[in-house]
Amino acid sequence: MLILLDQDGVLADFERGFRDAWNLRYGDHVPALAPSERKSFRLTDDYSPRLADAVRSIYEARGFYRNLLPMHGALKGVHVLLEEGHDVRICTSPLTFWRNCVPEKYEWVERHLGAEFLQRLIVTKDKTLVRGHVLVDDKPRVDGAEMPLWRHVIFDAPYNRGVHGPRMTWDNWREMIGSVETQLGAHAQQASAHCRRGAAAIMPGRRSPDDGR
Ligand SMILES: [Mg+2]
Repeated sequence: MLILLDQDGVLADFERGFRDAWNLRYGDHVPALAPSERKSFRLTDDYSPRLADAVRSIYEARGFYRNLLPMHGALKGVHVLLEEGHDVRICTSPLTFWRNCVPEKYEWVERHLGAEFLQRLIVTKDKTLVRGHVLVDDKPRVDGAEMPLWRHVIFDAPYNRGVHGPRMTWDNWREMIGSVETQLGAHAQQASAHCRRGAAAIMPGRRSPDDGR
């Protein structure tokens, strides 16, 4: 299958990075919310409105995205998915304030998954325009300009527990991906063969024609 993995909250531990950075800067006055207190996808919806600028200042800061730790089990999971023949891409939406976020997303992937994996990184403001069988994303609802071709598998987080649908963690991913593949049936198998051919085109040593421009 062609599997799209969101980056923050699925591969990179955005929540932990935020809590650590917040506590370092503001923790003496206002401690960061505990994971169990996180009810909304957007941090600014969970903190008091008077703290909105402070919240944004944490994740817009230089170095924030670069230094996020991998989610437990995520890197191993990605490698096993690839070994099992899936075509795995990272599909991530940057902040509107992109200046630090975008280059640091690339740095993060290079550091934790290797330079070759940069060929698999898709940065877009609209994930519905990207093709795939599955999108694994912690955002409760992923919408955009088109009806998506992928099935949304929710990556479990405290702030998305109110949403129904297939739900994954890096502990149960094998059963979840297997079950979606079964549901998609022959279509996914045919497409998987196609994906493997496509994936071969971005294997080490192959360069796309626009490299260097
Ligand atoms: Mg996310």
